[in-house]
Amino acid sequence: MTLAAYTPRSLPESLNGLFQLALDLRWTWHHGTDELWRALDAEIWDTTRNAWLVLNSVSGERLEELAADPDFQARYREQMSAHGEFIQADTWYSSDCPGDLGEGIAYFCMEYGLSESLPLYSGGLGVLAGDFVKASSDLGVPVIAVGLLYQQGYFRQAISTDGEQLEFYPYNDPTMLPVAPLRDDEGQWVRVVVPFPGRHVRLRAWKAQVGRCELLLLDSNDPRNEPGDRGITSELYTGDPEKRLQQEMVLGIGGWRLLEQLGRKAVLCHLNEGHCALALIERAFSWQDQYGSDFQVARTATRATNLFTTHTSVASGFDHFSRSLLRLYLAPWLDGRELDIDQLMALGSENGDKGNPPESQKLNMALLALNMSGRFNGVSRIHQKVTQTIFQPFFPRWPAEDIPADYVTNGIHTPSWDSPESDAIWTQACGKDRWRRPLQKSCPMTDISDEALWEMRRLQRTRLIGYLRRRLSSQHCEQNPGFDHSAACGLLLDHETLTLGFARRFTEYKRPDLLLKDQDRLLKLLASRDRPLQIVLAGKAHPYDLPGKDIIRQWKAFSRRPDVEGKVVFIEDYDLGVANQLIQGVDVWLNCPRHPWEACGTSGMKVLVNGGLNLSQYDGWWAEAWNQDVGWAIRPGATFDELSGSNNHDHDLSDVNELFDLLENEVIPGFYDLDGEGIPRNWLRRMRASMDQLTAAYSANRMVREYVEQFYLPMADKGSQRTPEISRELLDEYTTITRHWPRLRFNSFSTSETAEGQTCTVEVYLDGIDEQRIAVELVAEQSDYGPRTVAATQMKHPLSGSAHTYLYECTVPSRPQGHYTPRLRVCDDRLNLPLENPAILWLK
Ligand SMILES: *Cc1c(COP(=O)(O)O)cnc(C)c1O
Repeated sequence: MTLAAYTPRSLPESLNGLFQLALDLRWTWHHGTDELWRALDAEIWDTTRNAWLVLNSVSGERLEELAADPDFQARYREQMSAHGEFIQADTWYSSDCPGDLGEGIAYFCMEYGLSESLPLYSGGLGVLAGDFVKASSDLGVPVIAVGLLYQQGYFRQAISTDGEQLEFYPYNDPTMLPVAPLRDDEGQWVRVVVPFPGRHVRLRAWKAQVGRCELLLLDSNDPRNEPGDRGITSELYTGDPEKRLQQEMVLGIGGWRLLEQLGRKAVLCHLNEGHCALALIERAFSWQDQYGSDFQVARTATRATNLFTTHTSVASGFDHFSRSLLRLYLAPWLDGRELDIDQLMALGSENGDKGNPPESQKLNMALLALNMSGRFNGVSRIHQKVTQTIFQPFFPRWPAEDIPADYVTNGIHTPSWDSPESDAIWTQACGKDRWRRPLQKSCPMTDISDEALWEMRRLQRTRLIGYLRRRLSSQHCEQNPGFDHSAACGLLLDHETLTLGFARRFTEYKRPDLLLKDQDRLLKLLASRDRPLQIVLAGKAHPYDLPGKDIIRQWKAFSRRPDVEGKVVFIEDYDLGVANQLIQGVDVWLNCPRHPWEACGTSGMKVLVNGGLNLSQYDGWWAEAWNQDVGWAIRPGATFDELSGSNNHDHDLSDVNELFDLLENEVIPGFYDLDGEGIPRNWLRRMRASMDQLTAAYSANRMVREYVEQFYLPMADKGSQRTPEISRELLDEYTTITRHWPRLRFNSFSTSETAEGQTCTVEVYLDGIDEQRIAVELVAEQSDYGPRTVAATQMKHPLSGSAHTYLYECTVPSRPQGHYTPRLRVCDDRLNLPLENPAILWLK
């Protein structure tokens, strides 16, 4: 493909701005231009939601016709000037943000879910990254996102009549995607080169405009590349580790090189998952080239402004690559660098692995990311604990509670997920631009009547049912042998019936079969004459996930039972478009992952703005969000410690019971508990509480501001202090401390009761380490005497008689003998500790 293929088609002069509008993915959430695209080609717009495709498919005559249509011209000019205003407008970042992020944040992720018309995602991680970029645009935060343009993306799903998942990989013709070749100042197509064994892989660069932000994409399908290399970016999440490594090289190394080539001097690099950890090495290399320093200085200098976000709940979820594969692929890249393969392995090898022969060692990409980062975080409060546990082995002798994992709970881009009906209600309650600014507390819906809210729900549910019927009919419902036609085509779905939605990846831990574990009880609920339930399902199983595929089969079989009467429907090919319709229409969203496996989960957040309610496992975000007033929790109050390691099967059984109890005793009766005017007042009270308390709190708007205020700004500040000189000094100190550390010891530890409590005195020998660099703390575990405490001691004086020996003291609340244990660790405000130096010494 050449640039010529991208020479824009000619548009009538007076409509030239349509290019700009069509290439700004803002149309995925801002519906101002919908009518323009529909006027151009209603069928293409309605089926693909791809404005760029509409613009490139419409006939020349139709364009001329519209150019001459004063009505269309007026709407077009209105949208052009609205877009101009949007670009110019003040934002939270430009006017209220307490700091400056210079040339911005480089954000790396393997997948981006921005729109069903740009299928570069598989699920939660990508949708989160997409929502992150959109919310950054709303807030004006200077984010430059970097990703891969897959030729096929993730697979598309169909289900055969006997319930088998069929997988298809349609080709993404880049000329039909809402992206454009990235051009340099001379108008040339930007190319990036990454060294591979015996060759260079050429990458083409693309740009997707996302409002005020850009997503830069790389693909390897350059005709000059070898056939195998052209396919590196063909599909997402293949099972082949070699291809996976190639993709991570393209994204990490190629991605950072792209930014360098464009002269984008990002102040901070944010990795969304460890897949792109090589970007941090490449970043250190470019720093080295700029300042002529050695690698470890460059690492010290750059890591302060690298942030690593992990979404993983089990250590086996991290990418691992064998040393031999890495050596094969990375040797040309490392050639001429002082970082050799052994040093690279050392940055990402697990401790237990270090004793193994080098050839059997593996590099853990998450660990590499961690060792190159200044901070790291999980994605919900529970996930922080999970992350501390997973990463605990990399902080030897540090208790899990002290592992410096922070957390930022994920959020969703509200304007991408609201329905036209809820948009109208929120506009009435809080004004037009409500999602663009901080919305710390939702504006209460006090002025909106119960009747209006209930009408909103009815309209949304009715629209959903219309959509389900259209989808089912395109799923060939008519040709379902031996199955009732009306049931298969969704004709028995009812727009007054309580509608439960469940859609997500079909994989065991998400337990998409939980409802099926007690089919008698489920059948009773579906068959109820006066208080019926209907269920809509969707979800893909990874092509290699056989148990996941089996659950799809089970649901398909169940939905076809005559006694289910068409009240359970399965929608194929779950994607952003399907998700959008489901979350707008359902009354209740079900989420029942096995605790504590769901790092956060975001699909349930999408129903909030639309007045849907959550019925969910007390896990991920719901463990923070849930209270009696806003929805229902399975196993409320469960803690991570209580559940990790215990028997899955027992859990499943008791969770099934709790789920059905909630449905039978609370959810269903609540929905049908109507007053004289036909309004379920208690249900509405819940809806209001859920909308008021949770919509803003679980928005990407809140999430992005949290990243800016708690991470980007303080990290950029710390990073700006890391000049080449200071970085060298920090590294030298690190080396000194490491050299002395094995000889540090406690000489004595004594306690005495005083009027204020217990005074503890610790005498330590520091072997010549500057005492300013050492903190002595007293740690007491939680007991009947109080919660876990870590108390700082004060250095009183050096011991005059013996060299390098100091006396520390502090007074703490009294606890029995042996409850306080002293420990030594490094202390230095210039560093992020203990991440940058986990040295620690305990008295026992
Ligand atoms: C929101 C979303 C997800 C993430 O949902 P979870 O709650 O994390 O399972 C996955 N896929 C699509 C298409 C989505 O819209």
